[in-house]
Amino acid sequence: MKDEKSLFTRIIEGEIPSFKIFENEYVYSFLDINPASYGHTLVVPKEPASSLHELSQESAAELGKALVRISKSILEVTGVTSYNIVQNNGSEAGQTVFHVHFHIIPRYSDSNHELTWPTGSLDNKDASELAHRISMSIM
Ligand code: AMP
Repeated sequence: MKDEKSLFTRIIEGEIPSFKIFENEYVYSFLDINPASYGHTLVVPKEPASSLHELSQESAAELGKALVRISKSILEVTGVTSYNIVQNNGSEAGQTVFHVHFHIIPRYSDSNHELTWPTGSLDNKDASELAHRISMSIM
């Protein structure tokens, strides 16, 4: 049985309409239907991975390039100089569409969307061990 297409694959394939901003062989970008601010844009790889760590290197590289290009255009068109890039993986992280996507969210002087969290502190010994363990497992 074939896996069901994600909402974003259906948008990429034109089955569901979108306000398209950019498309190439690897990436599709369009306006978010429920924007946090004027110009809120989604940038999506055509590869139907659910989470970022599942993406191929090729797709990830192309996504990175497109993000920079599209961000520049959003700054130019909206006139903002501040913006947030948000990328959720997994329902506990707030992901609601299980196809990798980056949000580009322009920040205006009167924007009030929240992206902050309570901060902790780093214990030197734990940090050193953790950094080493993660570093050694990078492939
Ligand atoms: P996330 O919560 O990070 O998974 O973000 C999913 C985003 O997709 C939300 O910001 C939604 O507003 C947006 N979204 C859902 N359906 C559509 C659609 N048909 N067109 C454009 N954006 C959509």
